[in-house]
Amino acid sequence: MSQQVLYNKTKIIATIGPATESLTMLRKIIKAGVDVCRINFSHGTHDQHRRVIQNIRLINDELGLSVAILGDLQGPKLRVGEMKPGTILKDGQSLLVTTHEEIGNHEKVYVNYHDLPKEIQKGEHILIDDGNIELKVTDIVDDHTIKTKVIDGGVLKSNKGFNLPHTQVALPCLTPKDLEDLRFALEMDIDWIGLSFVRQPSDIRELRQHIQEAGSDAHIVAKIEKPQAVKHIDAIIKETDAVMVARGDLGVEIPLERVPIIQKSIVDKCIDAKKPVIIATQMMESMISHPRPTRAETNDVANAVMDGADAVMLSAETSVGEYPLEVVQTMEKIVSNTELNWNIYYKGKKPAKTSPTFLSDEICFTAVRMSDHIKAKAIISLTYSGYTAFQIAGYRPNCDIFIFTSNKTIFRMLSLVWNVRVFYYDKEVSTDDTITDVVEILKDKKLLKTGDVVVHTASMPINAKSRTNALKIGIVD
Ligand code: PEP
Repeated sequence: MSQQVLYNKTKIIATIGPATESLTMLRKIIKAGVDVCRINFSHGTHDQHRRVIQNIRLINDELGLSVAILGDLQGPKLRVGEMKPGTILKDGQSLLVTTHEEIGNHEKVYVNYHDLPKEIQKGEHILIDDGNIELKVTDIVDDHTIKTKVIDGGVLKSNKGFNLPHTQVALPCLTPKDLEDLRFALEMDIDWIGLSFVRQPSDIRELRQHIQEAGSDAHIVAKIEKPQAVKHIDAIIKETDAVMVARGDLGVEIPLERVPIIQKSIVDKCIDAKKPVIIATQMMESMISHPRPTRAETNDVANAVMDGADAVMLSAETSVGEYPLEVVQTMEKIVSNTELNWNIYYKGKKPAKTSPTFLSDEICFTAVRMSDHIKAKAIISLTYSGYTAFQIAGYRPNCDIFIFTSNKTIFRMLSLVWNVRVFYYDKEVSTDDTITDVVEILKDKKLLKTGDVVVHTASMPINAKSRTNALKIGIVD
């Protein structure tokens, strides 16, 4: 790990777009602390995404890093179509919504949901453009048109989001576009796949089946942005590999004032379940066009770190913003200052005796508690499946977590996980020799020095690739 790269426990995710896609800018933001690059399949072409992925991999090789890539599928997102420029909707006017594709104006707009007139009821509300425009359904005109009254009007531009907070949208969780994007993402060996508008645990199972059929081991981030997902949150956390609190759509689909409590409760549940959790959207929104964040944004990022989120995410701030490097630098400072001055450590429930993984979980739990008692510099773990890394991180140790693995598919994926730094190690030697080796590697990288106390976990015999079953304290020579 190059020392010129800034590193925090809480990971930073940056959405890549025109403002950051060049090799030079990607290198700058990665050095400034970005751990995961998000590719948003709602925008851009596969050719553009391919170049970004190649650039990230080049930088990983050049700097000895393992920056992960999150490919975020658009999901069944409803949008208005192309609009006549300058369209303004006035409060109180009526507006037709059609499912026949045409250019919209102040009388009629197109939405990409064929069954809308069948699924929606008179009296229901529609929110457009993140809730800036609100409509109330006054009539179902025919099989492809509904009539609405504009409650809150405003300028309506092309392709704005169209949310139906009270309607059960009967669309599949993976659209034909998602399946194409997924095929591309898996071909490119992307580490994490984001699933938008998750409604129930079976959505995750469906995506996982596609991933497995493609012979991939990509991991899944369930984006929580629908009331149904909040209702089924425990089952969704069980099914998924990670969770994103996608506050953009969530704050449109449910009353805004409920979002902070939902965010905190999801973070707590994910920490208990040892599943990484990402806080996303509008974290540093004003920095899209200003060089400094607002005080409220600064507090929002710090609060997510205090709650124990694994990662904080930037969207438009880094994809199209005017200050992509400055926003990463500012976020990094807020994160590191909070981690240094606030007790965000030693969370999570004790392992359950009834769990089939109780013994190895107990080793991870004890390693973390012990690291506090003996003031260890690091917990160093060998893992093949990655399970141990999730467990140790879940107990939130205040010392470093260094993970060594010979499994290339988990190598980058773990970069999303709180406080985990991953190193590739594929020598097949005895446990004693491996422990000596990995300590030497960390000393060479100036991550450990003589006299440091460390906690090791491993699975013995090492070539059996079974669950963690050994715990050892070492003092660096
Ligand atoms: C969100 O809605 O907060 C979100 C992250 O989703 P997207 O950016 O894909 O709309």
